[in-house]
Amino acid sequence: MLRKETHFEICNLTGPRLLKVITVDEFIQKGLAVCAGEASFHDLLLWLPAATLQDDPQLLSLPVGGFLVPDALTTPTQDTLLVLHSPKEPDVVQPGDVVALTPNSTLVRVLYRRGSDSNLLFMTDRCNSLCLMCSQPPKDIDDHWHIEENLRLIDLMDPGEENLGISGGEPTLYRDGLLEILAKCKTVLPQKSLHVLSNGRLLKEPSWIEALAALQHPQLSWGIPLYADNATEHDHVVQAPGAFSETIQGLYNLARAKQIIEVRVVLSRLTTQRLPELAHYVFRNLPFVRHVALMGIESTGLARKHHEALWIDPLDYQEPLSQAVYFLANRGIPVSIYNLPLCLTPPHLSHFARQSISDWKNLFIDACQQCAAIEHCSGFFKSHTDRWQSRGIHPLSIEAFGAYARSAH
Ligand code: SF4
Repeated sequence: MLRKETHFEICNLTGPRLLKVITVDEFIQKGLAVCAGEASFHDLLLWLPAATLQDDPQLLSLPVGGFLVPDALTTPTQDTLLVLHSPKEPDVVQPGDVVALTPNSTLVRVLYRRGSDSNLLFMTDRCNSLCLMCSQPPKDIDDHWHIEENLRLIDLMDPGEENLGISGGEPTLYRDGLLEILAKCKTVLPQKSLHVLSNGRLLKEPSWIEALAALQHPQLSWGIPLYADNATEHDHVVQAPGAFSETIQGLYNLARAKQIIEVRVVLSRLTTQRLPELAHYVFRNLPFVRHVALMGIESTGLARKHHEALWIDPLDYQEPLSQAVYFLANRGIPVSIYNLPLCLTPPHLSHFARQSISDWKNLFIDACQQCAAIEHCSGFFKSHTDRWQSRGIHPLSIEAFGAYARSAH
């Protein structure tokens, strides 16, 4: 599990900065072309191992925004140069990454990690729902500044084909900013597919249809949560009266705008008993849905507070899970199981299971260390604790994993 932030010794930081880390070789070979969009040398943070710097101190005269020494600094530098050195965790920041620096803080945040499929444009901490299992409880603040930061971040990313998520909070709360970001991604990062996570409620406004249709992004998809086949139960999970109706209207508007739609269901005590009915509902009423993701719960944020209401051992919902999965799959709706350990997934469902947990949040517990499936299993969220642990967790032998592998083909 590689974290997304670490502390450095930072010299001469005079204001907030977003910087692209680049090696000397890349600087010579590609220059500003390492950035997908508009950038200047001032946006670059040159990667200079201490040994390289000792051999060639003249490198400090290159006209870049700053220098990153990924080990201890042994060569004196001018007291006007921005220099980061002596990271607490040396692996966290690597060449190609885009990092954010804040004055009076030694924390360096990785906002873009080269080559990762887990990169995210974080839109806001605000939300118009208050889901019982929200992993990131909303904050009632004005954080429009994320829009400007994301627009800049897009410029500094690598061009290339990785997936890019857009998330919050609720991204549609900043409608114009979101549309601006989607348009910029289409122009600057045309090879990257985008996946927006939204509760879909504000998408009930018909004006979204025209705006999204005009955008014509060929690789834009939406992940919209639906927790029940009825308003009472869905609205209870998201703690917002009227939300079911709004989300359904939002889904229809996305379909009218010819968007790619995924329905997401977080598996909890409140959502698993009627999974087969929810699968029927999706098939009958939302036939345009391209994918259904059935997702193990992340045991953090508000989920911790609502443990008693939410927790159900995955062994105890295998039957409704199987029914829902096969109902959808047999009718041509692609379906995946996310965030569930393989040892809790019956072998006949294993070909629906995905390694879905972002690399920086992923954890394997002690029991996993002897497991033949560890390379193929989603494992756990790093927030995992004993009270969220199934009685069924057990390392799979090579023979047992063979049954999973055979079932997957
Ligand atoms: S024991 Fe094996 S199958 Fe179970 S969670 Fe760990 S790695 Fe996955």
